[in-house]
Amino acid sequence: MVSRKFQHSVLERFLRYVRIDTQSDPASKTTPSTEKQKDLGRVLAQELRDLGIKDAHLDDYGYVYGTVPANTDKRVPVICFCSHMDTSPDCSGKDVKPQVVRSYQGGDIVLPGDNSQVIRFEEHPALAKQIGNDIVTTDGTTLLGADDKAGIAEIMDAVKILVENLGIKHGTIKILFTPDEEIGRGVDKVDLKKLGADYAYTLDGESAGHLEDESFSADAATIRITGVSAHPGFAKGKIEHAIKIAARIVERLPKDMTPETTEGREGFLHPIRIEGALEEATLEYIVRDFTEGGLKEKEALLERTVRDVIKDFPRSTYRIAFREQYRNMKVVLDKHPKIIENALEAIRRAGLAPVLASIRGGTDGSRLSFMGLPCPNIFAGEHAFHSRLEWVSVADMEAAVRTIVNLAQIWEERA
Ligand SMILES: [Zn+2]
Repeated sequence: MVSRKFQHSVLERFLRYVRIDTQSDPASKTTPSTEKQKDLGRVLAQELRDLGIKDAHLDDYGYVYGTVPANTDKRVPVICFCSHMDTSPDCSGKDVKPQVVRSYQGGDIVLPGDNSQVIRFEEHPALAKQIGNDIVTTDGTTLLGADDKAGIAEIMDAVKILVENLGIKHGTIKILFTPDEEIGRGVDKVDLKKLGADYAYTLDGESAGHLEDESFSADAATIRITGVSAHPGFAKGKIEHAIKIAARIVERLPKDMTPETTEGREGFLHPIRIEGALEEATLEYIVRDFTEGGLKEKEALLERTVRDVIKDFPRSTYRIAFREQYRNMKVVLDKHPKIIENALEAIRRAGLAPVLASIRGGTDGSRLSFMGLPCPNIFAGEHAFHSRLEWVSVADMEAAVRTIVNLAQIWEERA
């Protein structure tokens, strides 16, 4: 099938959305974690209403909901397209100044606001596929926020196309924009009943053509160590130092099971926080694997290591607690093969070779899948996210828009 030519609004939308600061904050207790995320939410809800999406609204928690009504008599499953509005707390998202590199001709891209920031051709192999394409970057002083405003702009453009091209038949389409994905709380306050979707797709992936049906399974571990304190001047044979016990645990864990030494389908144990004094220390780990078995093995290894280290400190004690964070969505998606089949076909019809991949992380979709809304992740075109070198290709964003439109149509065709 020949891919259609649409009048796209995705670039213009993207440039508008990235200028709105929506950085989330893990230290905040509120939802959304930062009130400014609603600045974008309000714009999106209004733009949706302007497109004729009558029920579009921003709720108190910072979620945007909307419905593109069906234009077919067939009974089609209700499909939701979802992206997150917040940007990573790891890098500033304030006063983003996007620039468009027209018809990229290869080579390094020096960012104009800070010449020390260079998107190097050899460090970004994905650039090789972008010769002749328009590329959006920042000026080098902030992140871009293509993660995930590319996804948002793509969904918005697809909505516009569906609304304006009544010849494209589709069932009921739901739109969902979430806050706080980057801090792991993107679906905490989502109202799935109100949303009323059967299946969903997040648009939050990297390379064009990629579809991710697998995420990590993730737990967090907290280890509390109680040592023995004494005055350091009179401490010989007395002190059992909690900080030193914690340090020994970190040191003793295998070096080939860390984020910096693993890739592909390998999991890891990763310390994310350490806090302590002489008598008490707390270590926080995250545990990641693609299988439940692998996750449990790593947790057993962590606990065994703690126990072994503590043996050398007979008067010290430890407590260890594990907390589930999210699970590999493939377990859920495998029960609904059409979700993936239809998405692969939609990508093909967009003129791309589909690639089924796994995410070394989680998305809103991992959690949505286990909350009863099966949800793989489609590419949005974002690259080098969470950094000042972030970039996105306009051609990739347009391909994502076509993928969304195709998907809406394929679900109707096959209903
Ligand atoms: Zn994202």
